Amino acid sequence: MKRTFPIAVAALLFAGSAFADNCTIDLDGNDQMKFDKSEVTVSASCPEITINLTHSGQLPVNAMGHNVVITQTGDYMPVAQDGVKAGLDNDYVPVDDSRVIAHTDMIGGGETTTVTFPGDKLSAGGDYSFFCSFPGHWTMMVGKVIVE
Ligand code: ZN
Repeated sequence: MKRTFPIAVAALLFAGSAFADNCTIDLDGNDQMKFDKSEVTVSASCPEITINLTHSGQLPVNAMGHNVVITQTGDYMPVAQDGVKAGLDNDYVPVDDSRVIAHTDMIGGGETTTVTFPGDKLSAGGDYSFFCSFPGHWTMMVGKVIVE
């Protein structure tokens, strides 16, 4: 059993990636307060969606922190404003807020973070945005999440 387990897991992962079109969102933030993409696309059929965030800059989290928050586009500005009040201890994300569909941890330069959320939280054709909720960043670090 011990010897076959890793093979089974590998097969499962392979099967998952083969059947699900696009269930991963890869984003990079830098010291220029920018994400490397202005839109990302995921498949509506994804059982789970993974957000991988890298911070390719060097500045620390309290100076140039980045995260990825996904909300409906109409919620993005009020959630960002409430996130400022929530503070760095809460990664500038309102706590237990149903408007927040998913969010990563807040990271500094050289760090990476990953989060996974249920794919059924996003509907095909919905109007969603991703943004960094660090104070002042969300006006520049914002983009569309397209669900196909
Ligand atoms: Zn940021």
